Parts: sequence; structure tokens; C-alpha cells
Amino acid sequence: MNQDSVLAEKCWWGEALTDELVIDMHAHLGPWLAFPVVDDGSVESLVRQMDLVGIDCTLVSPHVAIGPDWQEGNRQAYQAHKQFPDRVRPYFTPNPKYPWAQMEVETDRWREEGILAGFKLHPAVHGYASTDDLCVPIYEYANEHSIPILSHEWKGEKVEGQHPLRGLAQRYPNATFINAHSAMNWEDPQGWAQRQSILTAAAAGQDNVYLDITGSVMYYGLLEEMVNRIGAEHVLFGTDVPFLDGRAQVGRILTSRLTDDQKRLVLGRNAARVFGLFGL
Ligand SMILES: [Zn+2]
Repeated sequence: MNQDSVLAEKCWWGEALTDELVIDMHAHLGPWLAFPVVDDGSVESLVRQMDLVGIDCTLVSPHVAIGPDWQEGNRQAYQAHKQFPDRVRPYFTPNPKYPWAQMEVETDRWREEGILAGFKLHPAVHGYASTDDLCVPIYEYANEHSIPILSHEWKGEKVEGQHPLRGLAQRYPNATFINAHSAMNWEDPQGWAQRQSILTAAAAGQDNVYLDITGSVMYYGLLEEMVNRIGAEHVLFGTDVPFLDGRAQVGRILTSRLTDDQKRLVLGRNAARVFGLFGL
């Protein structure tokens, strides 16, 4: 046990993190194909889990948006925010295979209302690459309005010898690019060590690239290694609720060998800065 960590101690005692700023920047709503969903995937069940852990705010993209129906999914995200305005913030999830003009109208409305957390891209399920030309209007919009983009890159294939988000981050410097599930290997044949070096190289020295550690797999010591390589300022916490139990996701940060200050950055302070929440 890390004797000096107030946060680890809270974890051992099973206390909610009520005095800490905790932002879950990666969660979903609703059912999903073959995956079991905790509770019923409703926004009410999401907020119940948030209270168990002590999460102040969660950023959501409903499954139906990253799946078959961007319009219905974004409607659900908007509704969830309206139901819990202080607790839930919506990602706008575009499907770049549809005309951007249709999606821009809705994005503008969210932005003008001040509720847009960012864009969620799911190249794997929607069947495109983040470097495809059809994404350009989204990146240009994000660059113009300084919007964060959470991108589920899946295998993280290299483009011109580097992770695709690094090149995009250089081309669109006012947007922020976040690689989802950076702690996971998926089926990358290069193995996790190489995948981590590609990912951390994407973020190293590139101020507008962040790694989100959401996921069911976390190799031993990986969080500490990631922080050593790119700094705690560039690592973000997410739960993937309702697939996963938010308590386990937060526990692996609280019981890690990071300092409490580093843990606080990962748990919420970085996300508050990136997404412009809680006045940071
Ligand atoms: Zn997810």
C-alpha cells in the first residue's frame, strides 16, 4: 500500500471521492449488440454509478450514435444533459459518411447553447479511417472553434510511420485529439509494448494530443509508464460505463504509484482544462 496517498486510502476504505474533482470523459448510454450492459444503460443508472464513485461530471456518447443512427444518438445525448445538466455533458457524434451540413446545424446549436463537450469519432464502427478526407469538415470545424475530439482508433495503425492523431494534431493545432482506450492492446499484432511506444510518441511533445486510459485491460505498471513518458498532464480518466464498473476504473488510478497530485490531474483536472469545465 502506498502509505503517503490520501487517495489510495480512500480507495481501501471504499469511500466516494466527494472532495475531489473527478470527470469521466468516456462513457456511453443504452444497449450495445453482444456486450452486456450494467444496469439498464439509462442516464439514471449512469448517475447512480457516478455517485458511488464520486464522479462530478460524465461525458457521454450514446451507443446508437456510434452505431446505426447518429441523429437518434445525438438526440439522446442532448436529452441526457437536459435531464442532468450539472452531471452529464454530451459529445456530438458525427457519422462522416453523412453530409456534414446536416450535422453542422446541430453542432452549432449545441455550441451556441454552451453544452458541446466535444466530438466523438468512432472510425472502427462507422467504417472509415480518421485520416479520410470525409473527416476534414469535422476537423476544420473543431480547429475553428477549439473543440476536443475523442477518437476510437481501435488498432492504432500507423500512417506515414506515426500514429494518425499526431499528424492530425499538427495539421489542426487548435483542436485537441484524444486517443480512446490507450491502455488496451486490442488485436494489434505488434504487441502492447510497441503499441504503447507508438501512442506515447503521438502525444510526446505534442500539446494537443491526449491519451485516455478507458478500457477493460490495463497492463501492470502501464499507467505509471505512460505518465513517465508523456507527463500526467496528458492522461485522461474514463470508465466506459455502462460496459464496465466505474469503481474498478477509478481504483486502478487511486492505487497506482502516481503521486496524489498526478492522480488528481488524471482523474479530473486535465479533463476540466481540456473540455473547459468547472472554470478551469
Ligand atoms: Zn467507449
